[in-house]
Amino acid sequence: MQSNLFNKILGQDSAKDFLSKAWKNQRLPSALLFYGPDSVGKKLTAYALAQALLCDNTDNTDNTDNTDNKDNLFSKACGNCESCIDVKEQKSPHILTIQPVKNIIKVEQSLEILSFLNLKTNASARVIIIDQAQFLNTQSSNKLLKTLEEISKNNYIILLSPSIKSLLSTISSRLIKVAFSSLKKDEFFSIIKESKTDIDFFNYSLQDYKKWKEVLEDQLLDKSIKFWTLFLKKDKKVYSFISKDLSKKENIEMFIYISKKLLLDKIKLNTLRVPQLNELFSHLNSINCISLLDLLLNLEKDIKNNINPLLSLENFCIQANK
Ligand SMILES: [Zn+2]
Repeated sequence: MQSNLFNKILGQDSAKDFLSKAWKNQRLPSALLFYGPDSVGKKLTAYALAQALLCDNTDNTDNTDNTDNKDNLFSKACGNCESCIDVKEQKSPHILTIQPVKNIIKVEQSLEILSFLNLKTNASARVIIIDQAQFLNTQSSNKLLKTLEEISKNNYIILLSPSIKSLLSTISSRLIKVAFSSLKKDEFFSIIKESKTDIDFFNYSLQDYKKWKEVLEDQLLDKSIKFWTLFLKKDKKVYSFISKDLSKKENIEMFIYISKKLLLDKIKLNTLRVPQLNELFSHLNSINCISLLDLLLNLEKDIKNNINPLLSLENFCIQANK
């Protein structure tokens, strides 16, 4: 059972509950939308579900209690068979994962889904996972629509996105929606501390380097460096700097993203991916970093709740200086 992915999901009780009931009643929907914030376990749950659907092991001997194992979604995957391991290592031939390229899911990728489904197979199921489905453009959405209308038995399609609204309503209306919530603070920190590679694999740890590559080209990186330089030197100019350069909502969101990465680097690796900040951050220990992260999460929440962005950031500085 060690590699059963359901065991690795932190929190998300209502999503798991929904799936488990649907499974028990043999009414697992073939088209699902997992929606909710980034890095809370949507992709991991999609793979866990795929693992349960694809496990070859019919008599799961690992389970010691005698309840009918087939009925329990969470213990359905044995975690040890070839199929379970393939799913865990993201190399199962029965799963197609679609990811945006430079923030677009192109029509070619929707066509890839069609040809995947057209392949002959003797697998017990096939699963298509569309990661960051908010990046489906109109053309690819339309192609996908056709697939959703015609999806046949034992084929499953799972879209992952931050919200229902981020998809065209023609698409979202055909999906059964499963909500994922923000992780509780202690869950979030236990992921940071654990830093297991297989969890990282599912983007759980916020180490998505692809996005970081985009950050390197973003001018907000310079602004964030300037912020941390002023802030850590306790320079009062930090307040005039933020009101001039960091007062817009989207700028602060990017600043939060970058700062989270830097603090996580410091906690996990003790070296930053922005070398010019290493010296300045050297005075912070991991407890300092965790409390700064905590304040950043609060700031993120305030921004999401549409509290005045500049006020929220000023408040962050005041709290962080304590
Ligand atoms: Zn298995």
